[in-house]
Order: sequence, then structure tokens, then C-alpha cells
Amino acid sequence: MQLLSEELLRSLGEARHVMVLTGAGMSAESGVPTFRDAQSGIWEKFRAEDLATPEAFEANPARVWQWYEERRAIVRSARPHAGHQALVMLESLVPELSVITQNVDGLHQLAGSKKVTELHGNILRSKCHVTGRPISAEWLSGSAHAVPPSPYVSGGFARPDVVWFGEVLPRQALEAAMQAAVQCDFCISAGTTSLVQPAASLPLMALEHGAAVIEINPSETPLSPHADQCLRGLASEVLASLVNQLSSWKHDSGQGR
Ligand code: NAD
Repeated sequence: MQLLSEELLRSLGEARHVMVLTGAGMSAESGVPTFRDAQSGIWEKFRAEDLATPEAFEANPARVWQWYEERRAIVRSARPHAGHQALVMLESLVPELSVITQNVDGLHQLAGSKKVTELHGNILRSKCHVTGRPISAEWLSGSAHAVPPSPYVSGGFARPDVVWFGEVLPRQALEAAMQAAVQCDFCISAGTTSLVQPAASLPLMALEHGAAVIEINPSETPLSPHADQCLRGLASEVLASLVNQLSSWKHDSGQGR
């Protein structure tokens, strides 16, 4: 297992605010597929990107709703892994930790992370496609339609409360993420291709404001050349090892809390 360099370990140990940005790769080991391998069976002929747009929903709401129903079933049965647990532990080792996630599955919260910002919404929630107002699970379970109607607008539909391609991010979440990016002194980017904007800019913003930035991903990404160190491996193993390394460093340097 590749370890964090001595210099970066000290930066992490002395950091006042750590930001962790996670992407679909963070949930892959919990059994939630990334978009790139989300297709199976009847969905093979569609690209996920073509189903996750407002235009796709307007063209065929039932097809998009059904695809999300299948993804919801996967998310409901998914459980956090050692990497999610490591981030919960990290919260107790640093003065402030902000988890900023592009994931819509709620696994960080399920693991017990307290300060989580969801940039792309949450697949287990639904909202009105016309007004954006939240729709309760009780309302949805009472519907026998292929796609549940909106309780607010006649002829309107319910849709998943996620950010689709081409849509703007929730303002509060984006502001919180940008604030964490400029304030943090250590940034960890884990399991993201660093391609989807504006999330991909957050580690670069942190870098510009003087933070150390590391990447955890088995593959190279556009962030890799800018990162202070790239730890190539699975999020579960690398994060668990990183937090162990930090625990030992704190203990050895007499900084254990
Ligand atoms: P992405 O752009 O975040 O790509 C996945 C990345 O994870 C790749 O770089 C891959 O090399 C890396 N990876 C794969 N397995 C890994 C592991 N075990 N440990 C560490 N890294 C690993 O994700 P995407 O699939 O292109 O999706 C784009 C957007 O779609 C996401 O940002 C998210 O909003 C949404 N999405 C969410 C979920 C979810 O909530 N679990 C799943 C799929 C897509």
C-alpha cells in the first residue's frame, strides 16, 4: 500500500480544516455502479448521460423514472465500506472536516459523517418536475402510475431530486463547497474522474488558496498533474490506510486528542 509522504502527513496532521471531495468511485465498492458501468439488461442501448437530463425526462418520463427506480433499489441495499468509516474516524482526528460529495446515495451520512454537502442532490428524495417542491415518500407509494403525478401541478410529474446534466447545482450546497475549498488547508479528492464541473474545480480552487491536495483513484485524472501526491488504489483501502497513518503520526508526535 502506497503511503502518504512524510511532508504531506505532517500537513494533514497540522491542518485546521480538511476538505474531502468524493465521486462515484467512492461508492463503487459499496456496490453502487459509476455511470460508466451503470448499464445492464434493457438499459444497454441507452447511455446514462442520455437518461440523466431534463430533456430525456420530458421526452419519456416513465422510462427515466423506471431507470431511477432500479438505481434506487441498488442504493437502498448498499452499505458504507471501510473508506466511508475512515472518513468518520478522520472527523475525530482533525479540527474541522467537510465532506463534499457528488454522490446521490447518502452513504457518507449512513456511515456517520456529520458535515456532508450533497452537490448533486439525493436519489432517495423526489421533487415536482415543474415547481421543484419536495414530494413525500407517502405520496409516491400511494401512486399506481408508471411515473407518479406531482401533488402540486395538474399534469405535472414527480422526478428524482438529483442534479441532471445541464442543470444548475443547489445554490446553498455549491456555496458551502466553495467556502470549504477556499478555507481548507488540506484537500483529498477521492473516486472522481475530475471531469464533471463545477465539482472538478474545487480541488484546484483549494490549491490556488494554498492547500495541499492529494488524489485517491486507481486511474489518472485531469487533477493528477496538479496534485501534491496521487495515491493509486481503491478508496476503501487507501482511506483506511491514510487514517491509520494519521492516527500513528498524532500518537508519535504527542498530538493525539
Ligand atoms: P466519476 O466521474 O466520479 O468517475 C468515477 C471515478 O472513480 C473514476 O475516475 C474511477 O477511476 C474511480 N474509481 C472507480 N472505482 C474506484 C474505487 N474503488 N476507489 C477509488 N476510485 C475509484 O463518476 P461517474 O460515474 O462519471 O458519474 C458522474 C456523476 O454522476 C457523479 O459525480 C454523480 O453525481 C453521479 N453518480 C452518482 C453515483 C452515486 O451516488 N453513487 C453513481 C454514479 C453516478
